[in-house]
This record gives sequence, C-alpha cells and structure tokens, in this order.
Amino acid sequence: MLYKKVALIGLGLIASSICLSLKRAKVTVEVIGTSRSLKTRSKAAELGLCEVLETPVETVKGADLVVLCVPVGAMRDIVKEILPNLKPGSTLTDVGSVKGGVIESIHSLLPVGVNFIPGHPLAGTEHSGPEAGFESLFDNRWCLLTPLAGTPDEPRKKLKYFWEILGAKVDFMSPQHHDLVLAVTSHVPHLIAYTMVGVADDLSKVTKSEVIDYSAAGFRDFTRIAASDPTMWRDVFLHNKEASLEILERFTEELLKLKTAVSLGNGELLFNYFSRTREVRRSIVAAGQDTSEANFGRKTS
Ligand code: NAP
Repeated sequence: MLYKKVALIGLGLIASSICLSLKRAKVTVEVIGTSRSLKTRSKAAELGLCEVLETPVETVKGADLVVLCVPVGAMRDIVKEILPNLKPGSTLTDVGSVKGGVIESIHSLLPVGVNFIPGHPLAGTEHSGPEAGFESLFDNRWCLLTPLAGTPDEPRKKLKYFWEILGAKVDFMSPQHHDLVLAVTSHVPHLIAYTMVGVADDLSKVTKSEVIDYSAAGFRDFTRIAASDPTMWRDVFLHNKEASLEILERFTEELLKLKTAVSLGNGELLFNYFSRTREVRRSIVAAGQDTSEANFGRKTS
C-alpha cells in the first residue's frame, strides 16, 4: 500500500464505502475517520468501519492521505480547522461532486508542501450515512482526478493507485471540464428529477395516493434520484452554477422542441429523437456502466 495512514473526514456513504473497499483489498493501511455528529461516529464505530476519533484535527495527525468526504459547502471550514495538522508531503483530496468550486474555496488556504489533488468518484446511491456504504461501490466506476498545474507526478500516481485499489478506473481532467461533463451527466438530470417529482406532488387533479400507487417505472426512477441527500445536492448547485445553467439552457431549448413536436403531432421528429437517445442507453450498457437487464434487473415493472 502506498499510504501508511489514511484519514477520512466525514463517515457517510462514500467514506464508509472506502473503508469497506480497503478491507476487501486486504491492504495494510491505518484508516482513521471522524464525523460531525456523535450519532454517525458511534454508528461507524459499531460497524467497525475504521478507528473513529472525535475531531478532524486529531484525525488528520500524521496522515499521508486526507480525504474530505463531506458536502462541498462544508469543506472550507474543515480545511481551515485541519491546516496546522496536515503533514508536510501529505496529499489532501476530496470526493466532492463539483471541482471548480471546491478548488476555489480551498486552494488558497493550503500551505506549500501539501499536495492538493481534487477528486470525484462517479459512484453513489440515493442512500446516505455510514450504514449505506458497500465494498463494491467503486468497482468499474470512474474516479476523476483534477490536479492543479504544478502538482508533482508522484502524488498523482499514488492517488490514482489508491482509487484503483478501491476498484475504480481513474482519469485526469481539468476542473472546468469535469464540472461541465458532470452538469450533463449528473447535476442537471438530478434537477430534472427533483422537478418532475415536485410537479407530480403538486398536481391537484391526481391524488397523492394515485401518484404513489400507480407509479410507473419511469416515475419511480425519478423518485429514486429525487430522494438523494438535500444538503449534498443544494451544495452541488451552489458550487456548479455556471455549467448547470449552461446545460439547463440547452435542456430548455430541447424541451421546447419536443413540446412543439407533441403539439403539432410531429411523429417523425419524436421517433427520430427517441431512436437517437435509445442509442445512448445502448452505449452506456456496452461500456459496462450499467446492466442490460430490463428495468435494471428489478423483479417487478
Ligand atoms: P453522506 O452519506 O450524507 O455523509 C455526509 C458526511 O458529511 C457525514 O459524515 C456528515 O456528518 C458530514 N457532514 C454533513 N454536513 C456537514 C457539515 N456541514 N459539516 C461537517 N460535516 C458534515 O454523504 P456522501 O454521499 O458520503 O457524500 C459525501 C461527499 O461525496 C459529498 O461531497 C458528495 O458531493 C460526494 N459524492 C457523493 C455521491 C453520492 O452519490 N452520494 C457520489 C459521489 C460523490 P454527520 O452524519 O455526522 O452529520
């Protein structure tokens, strides 16, 4: 193992999955974690995820790798707190879903000698907390690292190896590109899911129980996404405003195009559009990023 001591700040879904995945890999590494609340710390300790300490300051002492596993908006304050205890030559990374905003809020605080390499594992579920983690969360998923110019090669390679041990595939890209790609593939789709579920909830013509009882697979998939952690997703949009707005603008244009096609009964446009999007699904399955089973392999439709 390339790191002797790994410190996890936050012990939710992502951090607990890191713990379980490291256990599975049977690597010799000391893993220490902490979380804001006593409830989460106690649960993490009860689950035996890692050694659990009370504060971030004591958790990062002597760590070769510090991983921030908290919502994006909470990272700056934590970094301010742990700064004096970061070991010279260590690596600080994060798992936040936005990269530009995280860099903006943290980078200027860091002392020379600490390698800051922002990261984002493209893996998650709508569940939160230390009991939500599982050892295979990162298997065959991408982890995107967005190192800043001037970051030496050695720490980049070590962090890449760390994520590979967890089962992930690693790619490097600029923070700006990351944020645009994620706005398309994750952030705006979440916003749309939140909107659709909100619309259904508001709809006065259909009673709430009908929306719930007769929910079709499509709506159920929206509700799964819309059940994601509100704090995390609020922070995503607060920190990836520009790219989200750019993609939302494009989305609105396309939606209007489809609305016009529906209104004019333009079946040809609808058919061609839906055929094109079906191919996108096939490419995702072919890339091994999802199952080809009907309804994601669920038992009922
Ligand atoms: P989670 O399960 O909800 O856990 C969040 C952790 O952060 C908990 O330890 C929580 O502490 C702590 N926390 C929350 N608010 C805090 C605050 N204001 N100050 C200090 N600590 C705070 O979250 P997660 O899904 O692991 O997400 C963690 C990070 O991973 C986020 O930045 C998210 O963007 C990123 N990420 C998430 C996913 C996903 O699908 N979930 C995927 C990729 C990346 P307490 O429980 O003690 O309050």
